[in-house]
Amino acid sequence: MVEEKIFNGENYFKCSICGFFYKKEQLAQKCEDFCKDYNGCNLEITKHTVKVN
Ligand SMILES: [Zn+2]
Repeated sequence: MVEEKIFNGENYFKCSICGFFYKKEQLAQKCEDFCKDYNGCNLEITKHTVKVN
């Protein structure tokens, strides 16, 4: 399940499998689906990750 987190007043969505954060829930969901199915990350998705600290 994608987790929603708030850092500095902004919402971020986390892929529960690889732990990357995204600004868009849709991307985090895609990442999680991919991670689950392929047991690894998709570069096309992970290039959208954001740093949260
Ligand atoms: Zn992921």
